[in-house]
Amino acid sequence: MLPPSPPSSAAALAELYGANNYHPLPVVITHASGVWVTDSDGRRYIDMLSSYSALNQGHRHPRILQAARDQLERVTLTSRAFHNDQLGPFLERLSQVSGFKRALPMNSGAEAVETGLKACRKWGYQVKGVPDGSARIVLAGNNFHGRTISIISGSTEEQYRQGFGPFTPGFDVVPYGDAAAVEAAITPHTVAVLLEPIQGEAGVVLPPDGYLREVRAICDRRSVLMFLDEIQTGLGRTGRMWAFEHEDIRPDCITVAKALGGGVYPISAFCADDALMDVFSPGDHGSTFGGNPMAAAVGKAALDVIVDEGLPARAAELGAYFMERLRGLGSPHVLEVRGRGLLIGVEVHVSSGTARHYCEALKERGVLCKDTHGQVIRFAPPLVITRDEIDMALAHVAAVLA
Ligand SMILES: *Cc1c(COP(=O)(O)O)cnc(C)c1O
Repeated sequence: MLPPSPPSSAAALAELYGANNYHPLPVVITHASGVWVTDSDGRRYIDMLSSYSALNQGHRHPRILQAARDQLERVTLTSRAFHNDQLGPFLERLSQVSGFKRALPMNSGAEAVETGLKACRKWGYQVKGVPDGSARIVLAGNNFHGRTISIISGSTEEQYRQGFGPFTPGFDVVPYGDAAAVEAAITPHTVAVLLEPIQGEAGVVLPPDGYLREVRAICDRRSVLMFLDEIQTGLGRTGRMWAFEHEDIRPDCITVAKALGGGVYPISAFCADDALMDVFSPGDHGSTFGGNPMAAAVGKAALDVIVDEGLPARAAELGAYFMERLRGLGSPHVLEVRGRGLLIGVEVHVSSGTARHYCEALKERGVLCKDTHGQVIRFAPPLVITRDEIDMALAHVAAVLA
């Protein structure tokens, strides 16, 4: 038998025995609490990525951990072959927070999106009267909705698709932020328009003001479902509970994941009202782990923390402050600072080097963040971050961008 390996070789083991599908920064995290993580050498870092917004409540929030511990002592998995006592209260809470009557629980974000695509197609056939097998869904260029074959079939990112065909048909892609292009792409067979309210993976790309309102009006006029992917933007991240609230509209359905699991457990959901959710009948769709009692207990606590701690308002206030200070740095390397709430992108000039280069320099200074799309440094800290902690991170950001 091999002796236990010292923690310092953990990264080497992951590289030796894992698939090579990620390129992490060279830090091995062993502990975390709130906005702070500790590496295998005992160094502390401030987490300004929060697992791509899956840690809005911070690492190991005490209330979420307690819910998980309590549930571990009772029952963790039942499958949906039987009821469990946690799923109902979780779904009720999610309905109160989302404003949608029903939710279909899954595990990963991609599965929630797949669920939504299935629901929209079936609605098209059962309700709209689209001929069987011909439903079409409009997506935006540079979208990110996950990694399944059907989802990448609607991606414009060559690397996400390369070598993974053949692809699922039925997607029409239009430029993001252009409502007229959405309208032009709609055919009598179109069942839904699927969009991110802000494109996170694409580099924190905000659409023009009024875009979501215009798409809402187009969808109403053309009898097409408006499907918003709130997996990254939802649950307080942009300063409102849902990013669609910034435009005072309501989509027909949303996907939620990431922070729904409170950083403890993978939990996702597709949320909609009766008219859409009613397309599902027993046996149509499901997941062995979806809606399990562990997930439900954790998910309910994760939602309670966001509401009870007022995290959306906190994101609005601290995000505005953070962005103002970032702009105030006046760095010659910065092309643009953009974002909403605590979802912030700092785009650096191509001539100033890659965003990864700045992320590596920040890591050396104890600030963890991640580049996206080559030139954008994404800052998306846990929403429980304090102003003092933002100031501390800013001092290092100022130094590397000087
Ligand atoms: C992360 C993300 C997904 C995919 O979620 P996974 O849990 O990684 O499958 C889908 N859509 C958006 C907008 C995301 O940010």
